[in-house]
Amino acid sequence: MSDNILEELFIKRSQQKKKTSPLNYKERLFVLTAEKLAYYDYDADKGKRKGQRGSVDVEKIKCVETVEADPSAPPERKFAFQVVYDEGPLYIFAKTEASRNEWITKLKELVRSNKDLMQKYHPCFWADGVWLCCQQEVKQAMGCKILDRKNGYATRSKSTRKPLPPTPSEEKPSRPLPPQPEPAASSVSMTVIAEYDYTPMTSQDLELRKNEEYTILEKSDANWWRARDKYGKEGYIPSNYVAETETGLERFHWYCKNMNRSQAEQLLRSENKDGGFLVRDSSKAGKYTVSLFAKSGAETGGSCRHYNICTTPQGQFYLSEKHNFDTIPELINYHQHNAAGMVSRLKHIVSNRARPPSTAGLGYGVWEIDPHYLTFIKELGTGQFGVVKYGKWQGQHDVAIKMIKEGSMSEDDFIEEAKIMMKLRHENLVQLYGVCTKQRPIYIVTEFLANGCLLTYLKEGLIQHPTADQLLEMCKDVSEGMAYLESKQYIHRDLAARNCLVDANGTVKVTDFGLSRYVLDDEYTSSVGSKFPVRWSPPEVLLYSKFSSKSDIWAYGVLMWEVYTLGRLPYERLSNTEIVDQVSHGFRLYRPQLANERVYKIMTSCWHDKPDERPTFQDLALTVQDLLYELQ
Ligand code: ADP
Ligand code: MG
Repeated sequence: MSDNILEELFIKRSQQKKKTSPLNYKERLFVLTAEKLAYYDYDADKGKRKGQRGSVDVEKIKCVETVEADPSAPPERKFAFQVVYDEGPLYIFAKTEASRNEWITKLKELVRSNKDLMQKYHPCFWADGVWLCCQQEVKQAMGCKILDRKNGYATRSKSTRKPLPPTPSEEKPSRPLPPQPEPAASSVSMTVIAEYDYTPMTSQDLELRKNEEYTILEKSDANWWRARDKYGKEGYIPSNYVAETETGLERFHWYCKNMNRSQAEQLLRSENKDGGFLVRDSSKAGKYTVSLFAKSGAETGGSCRHYNICTTPQGQFYLSEKHNFDTIPELINYHQHNAAGMVSRLKHIVSNRARPPSTAGLGYGVWEIDPHYLTFIKELGTGQFGVVKYGKWQGQHDVAIKMIKEGSMSEDDFIEEAKIMMKLRHENLVQLYGVCTKQRPIYIVTEFLANGCLLTYLKEGLIQHPTADQLLEMCKDVSEGMAYLESKQYIHRDLAARNCLVDANGTVKVTDFGLSRYVLDDEYTSSVGSKFPVRWSPPEVLLYSKFSSKSDIWAYGVLMWEVYTLGRLPYERLSNTEIVDQVSHGFRLYRPQLANERVYKIMTSCWHDKPDERPTFQDLALTVQDLLYELQ
């Protein structure tokens, strides 16, 4: 038919909309038009298409990407791709890489202006109730991988570009393809590059050297992958210390992959070097931005500029139109010597890689920490469980140590739970490193965050004249950490600004998740107790103690309100009893001056009296992200 854009015989995997529905693979004729991706029964003998078996509206598609082949799959199922829409992913297997690329490119082109494009996706299959890439067990769980060149822009813009030096010269979609047809034998075999040095913490770990390549052998623990170095040595490495070599930029110090505008500004300002610069992913998918700090010019204290790296129709890169380059490293090299229209040349590389991220525990499989390895440096504060100190583990790793006052915690229950908490790892959650339980008081050892408690950070004006995107960025950080907890079906129960911490880069992380269950103090645990977080609680908690991810959502709305009032006490003029009464009769917090209508709308959506009507954290993270894009 004339309006068919593409038509081809593929294998389709059954969609398993219910857990019990069978997994099978059927040959179908796929037909793509501008409106629909439909698939039909096909009569191979007559070469004719028969009845339609299903279809997806193009405008409902949220993501089109390759899927990593299952190593044990037969040759005809090596070239998988996914079309994600509101009912989940549709998995399709093309016969060749070329045809898969053609379909992905075409589909991306058609969906590029769709409303709900995803920003994260799952690179592997959903199978038997689990995402094979991240082990999450909820089908709706947010993707675990950020789309490098977000959806619509992907392959198209890339295919017009010349490849960057380290990548092979063939064109390819946005992630490395599995090896050519011959069936792969090993479980995973993926090459990564170390973004940080890693010194083994246990004898099972493998040392990482920044910028060197490693082969990943096994991913059964999401946080600790088994890897092999170029000398053939094998061991466990923290999975967040390595990156897939996708763009080839990872090996350059100036490339700060997942950094956003306000983090870049904060980092450049804190380095305070004239001509300090970095390259980051632009808020426009698939593009890059150079962020540059200059001390000259009108503003005292220096200013940050952000220059988008543009592409010519021939696929060359430029910052200044007269100077085009085949690759981004060549462009950066040129501007390290020539300002060519910018406020300064690129004088000093500023990198966030100086500080490695935290690992899930101090070595593979470790959760009991020997207290002899801890040194105490200074007191940070006192909380519900007693004193919290800053210190070092093995003399070099920063840690925070909670010394649990005897009688303040049901310790055995907590120790059991700690094993689960150790496995939770997300860049917006304060990492639990381990516990010391062989002595009294017991210690809880966590990641240390230099800027301390978010509430104090807000109240004491540690950020001067916060901008709209800084405030929203904080809310985004919290929403992403919470979306991760939500995907693990883990309820926080005490989300509030006082239970968030701020790191040296200004990133906000959520802490103390689930801990309230182990508090031994009636004033705190009973909803009529004086320490109960009444101001952060929805009616169903106040009235029936019904905690859920939806009660966390309510608390998140209140936390947003704390952010936008720079740390005021919610319902400051009301007592706890008045709050219970008024909130259950529909009374809500007012709109803070710094919050515009759209931001306030997000807050109020969290305060719906019916829990089911409140959004999920996954929704919230995307809404906040969208607002942020608009600001930039
Ligand atoms: P608790 O949750 O036991 O009541 P907190 O977590 O509130 O105690 O800790 C008390 C104070 O210690 C916090 O307000 C904060 O200033 C500081 N603090 C706690 N944990 C950390 C950490 N990981 N990094 C930096 N400061 C911390
Ligand atoms: Mg706390």
